Amino acid sequence: MPQANAVISRISPVAISPDEFRRAGHGLVDRVAEFLELLPASPITRGESPSAIREAMDAARPLPHEGAPTTDLLDRAATLLFDHSLFNGHPRFWGYVTSSPAPIGILGDFLASAVNANCGAWFLSPMASEIEAQTVRWIAEMLGYPTDCGGLFVSGGNMANMVCFLAARAAKAGSDIRTRGVGGARLRAYCSSETHTWIQKAADISGLGTDSIRWIPADEEFRMDIEVLRARILEDIETGEKPFLVIANAGTVSTGAVDPLGRLAALCREFDLWLHIDGAYGALAAVAPDSAALFVGLSEADSIAVDPHKWLYAPLEAGCALVRDVSSLRGAFAYHPPYYHFGVEAINYFDLGPQNSRGFRALKVWLALQQVGRDGYAQMISDDIRHSRAMYECVAENPELEALSQGLSITTFRYVPLDLDRMDSNVANYLNDLNRELLTRLQRGGEAYLSNAIIGGKYALRACIVNFRTTLQDVKELLPLVVRLGKELDGEMRPTIRT
Ligand SMILES: *Cc1c(COP(=O)(O)O)cnc(C)c1O
Repeated sequence: MPQANAVISRISPVAISPDEFRRAGHGLVDRVAEFLELLPASPITRGESPSAIREAMDAARPLPHEGAPTTDLLDRAATLLFDHSLFNGHPRFWGYVTSSPAPIGILGDFLASAVNANCGAWFLSPMASEIEAQTVRWIAEMLGYPTDCGGLFVSGGNMANMVCFLAARAAKAGSDIRTRGVGGARLRAYCSSETHTWIQKAADISGLGTDSIRWIPADEEFRMDIEVLRARILEDIETGEKPFLVIANAGTVSTGAVDPLGRLAALCREFDLWLHIDGAYGALAAVAPDSAALFVGLSEADSIAVDPHKWLYAPLEAGCALVRDVSSLRGAFAYHPPYYHFGVEAINYFDLGPQNSRGFRALKVWLALQQVGRDGYAQMISDDIRHSRAMYECVAENPELEALSQGLSITTFRYVPLDLDRMDSNVANYLNDLNRELLTRLQRGGEAYLSNAIIGGKYALRACIVNFRTTLQDVKELLPLVVRLGKELDGEMRPTIRT
């Protein structure tokens, strides 16, 4: 039968033999293991310019017409990436909210790609869909949220928050907004001035527009001012607007502040509003005994966004949206076109979110949750918070540094030369410029990595420890480094100011 022969003898350039796969894979695993071993002693970044990076990878070369051997390509890619990347897995990486990847997660992603389950429909991913469902339940359990909630994995915190925002919009619009569009619906969402920029993107792409956001000021501890919130809701009702959503932060990005969740839940009940919690960074600190009190009331939320690629140490990407009532996810996303015939009575994730084909993001999280256990996470998150508090205390004791804030695992501070009066308004601009330059120099240097925040108008250095490799020693070594760079820059910058 010539036809069968033709199939058997097909040569597909992308296929490789099992032996070649083993050789290439083992070689790669050895290189990754060595990379992880050397990481603590390597620079976080080499601070290279875009042109240097492009030159290293020969950016201008055209797409090759012919193929190349798998082993060589993987080897070259590993060399390029290990030599020219910024490593958030380094023990002194404390920028943004970006975590070190758990080694088991690295391997989990490899396995997920091998099976290549399409987690859009249960029928296409029976085991993977059930693993995702269990992972969602376990995350809810860690937070103290009802484990019969709905939920799914998405790419990160932004998407998790947006999925919840759209669930709130469909549930509370009071008209068929999915069919008719937002039209003249004067829906209003309330959040503190400390809220992450996902809210602007959500208001924008959902059609409500950013004018629908009511920014509520924060108190001196960066938490939403509830009295102002109440007054604003009443005022909007008075003028015929339609409040539908309050967004509470459980861990703001700048300072780690947690809004008063219990009081916000009560207020939402009073006005029949959807309570969404942005817990992308902080909600998982609910497992840490020392911080648990901050999260009382979290279980009353209608939805929560969590980011497993932050405090669960999943490699990027993994965000998770939790919604109290799974029918409100269906209410926001489900359509049933005629070409879908998934008869099985089980969870079909394409019904619960915006994606259709979906990768298996849950596996790396599911593996890490079992490798570490609830107690292991409680310990690691507590350690991060403890290290951040230790950093704050060391900063406060250092006369050349000004401690500005400490919340969850975020500490902010700045460098102030000894002979300058930090209260003098004339030096305020100079201190902002000085610390901005200091941050740039620190980031390029590759010894420690911070990001920035604006605290009460002051340009601050910000250290966010979401890093299971950070030791107390790493924390202590930061301060002399900052002071050394600060002095150096002050020496260069002040003369130019004075003239
Ligand atoms: C990180 C973060 C986000 C955005 O999450 P991504 O994973 O970067 O998309 C939103 N809100 C808060 C509070 C965050 O910490």
